[in-house]
Parts: sequence; C-alpha cells; structure tokens
Amino acid sequence: MTTYTESIEKLIEKLIKLPGIGRRSAERIVAYILDESADEIKRLTEGILRVKENVRFCLICHNLSEQDECGICRNPKRNKSLLCVVEKPNDVTVIEKTATFDGVYHVLMGAIAPLEGKGPGDLKIDSLLDRIKQEQIQEVILATDSDTEGEATALYLAKLIKPLGVRLSRIGLGLPVGSNLEYADSATLSKALESRRDI
Ligand SMILES: [Zn+2]
Repeated sequence: MTTYTESIEKLIEKLIKLPGIGRRSAERIVAYILDESADEIKRLTEGILRVKENVRFCLICHNLSEQDECGICRNPKRNKSLLCVVEKPNDVTVIEKTATFDGVYHVLMGAIAPLEGKGPGDLKIDSLLDRIKQEQIQEVILATDSDTEGEATALYLAKLIKPLGVRLSRIGLGLPVGSNLEYADSATLSKALESRRDI
C-alpha cells in the first residue's frame, strides 16, 4: 500500500520510466520537487519542453541541432575532408570534449544489432555513402563502439566505403574491448583518435 497522494504516485510512475531511475530515485526526485520553489520547478519543466520543441537532428550529419544544420556542420573552420562516423549524438559530445578532432561527423543513429532487430536499413548509412561520394571527403574514421555491435557495424561500413577510394581508418587502440565510446575518458579517446589504424 502506498502512502503517497494520488498525484505524487502518478509522478513516480512517470519518473521510473526514465533511464537509470528506479523507484527510490523517483521518490528522491519528488522530495526535491516538493522542497524547491515553484519558480525553480517551473524553470525545470520549461527547460524540458524547450528541448523537446527546439532540438532536432542536423540534416547533414544527424547530430542534435536547434537549426537545420548543426553548429559543427556550419562551422567554416572545421575540416570537411575528415569525417568521423559515430553511433549516437552523445558520441559527438564526448569526442568534442577531447578538443583534438577538427573534422566533421556522421551519426548513424545506432549500430547493427540483429538481436534487437536492428539492421543496416535502420541506420543512416545511405546518407553517409552519399556524403562520401558528393563531399570532398578524404578520410573516414570509423568510431563506432568497440563492443560486438559496434565492431560488426564498422566491418559492414568498411566493405561499403573501401571501394569509394577514400582513406579509411578505425579508432580503437587504447579503448578497452567491448566498451562504449561514451564511457571513455577524454585522454584515452584522443589517444584512440590519434592512433587510428588504416583498414
Ligand atoms: Zn551537422
């Protein structure tokens, strides 16, 4: 039997749907909400809504953006001949944090994962190949995760990209096998980018 009021119980049910939030954390969030001023909570909910309304995907690289093209694609100082392929928008953020990469990105929106029913057709592969053919790209770095899905995706992409005549490389040295890019620290990640190997 719950001892919460109806609206609190409903909010807890919504909160536990969030990634990483169990019932205990949901209860702590509710306590925080009750404790904070109404203004602060209003700013929080408005912030959530603003993200939902304004953020979309870049038409070129599929990174998160608040305009048709993301800040990286629009930046004239970025090296447009160097393209780094990652699985998720979050991977762009972690590589940007290393401040060692000056090229541009292509976000696949996932990895090939047959067990989850995710095949190549579910990823942004067509637009990647179009970019390699149409833009002045000289090198493609495959920076998918080093877990099974990421490796399978890199292999699949390598077969498609190789015949297009660009330099193709894979990051990985220094990154623990089976790991996700987002958990690597900046130093490890920049080393992995620097020591990328041609494939
Ligand atoms: Zn972009």
